[in-house]
Amino acid sequence: MNWLGRREVVVENGDTLMKSNANDSEAEAEKILELMYAQGKAQFGNAVKSFWLYTDDLCPGCMARPIDKMKYKGKDALSINGFMYRPRGVLIGYFLCDTCANHIFKEAAKNPFKQTPLHADIERNLADAYHRYMASLDA
Ligand SMILES: [Zn+2]
Repeated sequence: MNWLGRREVVVENGDTLMKSNANDSEAEAEKILELMYAQGKAQFGNAVKSFWLYTDDLCPGCMARPIDKMKYKGKDALSINGFMYRPRGVLIGYFLCDTCANHIFKEAAKNPFKQTPLHADIERNLADAYHRYMASLDA
């Protein structure tokens, strides 16, 4: 089950057009996407053509543990990660399970600008998930 449902935001000429499914009680998803929009534009500028939120149940870091949904409910705990998938110009938002999030947090404290091996796994899993999603739209 997807807690946010599937959403995709397409950015055109600075406007945000939201294509959504029938789920309408998803203010949190919209807030997250607004955050991503602001952060992505600040960081990547016009390289960002669209956003996609990873909403599968399993953490994209380990693909083993579920993402702890409760932790997004409190606003201090809201911490979205973004991965710029440059071949498609899509900024992919995702959450991690506690274990992976803590691992990355600790590594970042030691080496702030170093990608961890876990990042490579996350990015590969996110790219795979994005391709699966795009393929499902064509079906
Ligand atoms: Zn994990």
